[in-house]
Amino acid sequence: MSEKIGFIGLGIMGQGMVRNLLQKGFEVYIWNRTHPKMDPLLELGAHAATSPADVASHATIIITCVSDTPDVEHVMLQANGVIFGAKAGDLVIDMSTISPEITRRLARAFADRNVHMLDAPISGGSEGAANGTLSIMVGGDAEQVARAMPVFEAMGKTITHVGAIGAGQTVKLVNQILVVVTMLGVSEALLFAQAGGLDLHKTIEAVAQGAAGSWMLSYRGPQVVDRDWRPGFTIDLQQKDLRLVLEAADQMGVPMLGTGMVFNLYRTLQQQGLGLEGNHALVKALENLAGIEIRDQ
Ligand code: NAP
Repeated sequence: MSEKIGFIGLGIMGQGMVRNLLQKGFEVYIWNRTHPKMDPLLELGAHAATSPADVASHATIIITCVSDTPDVEHVMLQANGVIFGAKAGDLVIDMSTISPEITRRLARAFADRNVHMLDAPISGGSEGAANGTLSIMVGGDAEQVARAMPVFEAMGKTITHVGAIGAGQTVKLVNQILVVVTMLGVSEALLFAQAGGLDLHKTIEAVAQGAAGSWMLSYRGPQVVDRDWRPGFTIDLQQKDLRLVLEAADQMGVPMLGTGMVFNLYRTLQQQGLGLEGNHALVKALENLAGIEIRDQ
């Protein structure tokens, strides 16, 4: 393999993604702000770099997967950032979920140095990252997407080139609208079922394969009934993404009635200190309004 991979951001997602790249035989240079998180991957054969610029100086395809828009800007552009190590012809791929507008701005900064950029946000949770089954939504030039395809295929199952740079992030935000508005429907339906005295697991079983079926109902519905609030995706990170949705919608002049309402419902839960619970804990905000609690009966 002629491409050498750099990877910055070894959080919940990055850990699994790098493991899969190593398993597929890629040479991978890694860096993480909190250095000890590099250790398990170094044991598997990754090479340690000393900064994002150092990662870029060793690699030809440099991937970032960090938390939020300012964090991506930081690792890309600040002192010792990717831009100071990247060479003409290199390809930078941001796989974090961030602002589409800032993504386009970053791409212009790299283009000024003849460095290519793709945005390739992901969906599929920590399980998808660990199992190499992520959905990857890619924006950018077709030629660079083709170049990166073996790298994407090492980490994901459904890889879709959705348009120009920034389009990947916009599709990811579409994904997030669908996730939260579906979860609102699941929450309201389960609360209604509870008030109606139904067996909630049986109710889910009865409707999940019909027109009302969804991933959120099948996977998070039973968790709600069992009052298991462990996160696949935390409320705090969900809010980060909804903020991106609402900002982009504001710029485009699109009303976001459902998403706006869910954003405010999650805010009430954050105020109660529940930001680290899973996004399916949305039901708690409706329970508070209804004065009813969902219980397996
Ligand atoms: P995470 O476990 O919280 O990890 C965040 C990573 O970003 C860590 O490596 C952290 O370094 C690094 N980071 C944050 N701010 C930084 C900064 N200013 N400078 C340098 N490094 C910084 O998050 P995650 O779950 O892996 O998520 C990463 C991205 O994928 C996010 O954009 C998230 O929205 C997206 N995503 C997550 C999921 C999911 O289910 N978890 C699913 C799809 C998409 P430290 O180790 O030093 O803190």
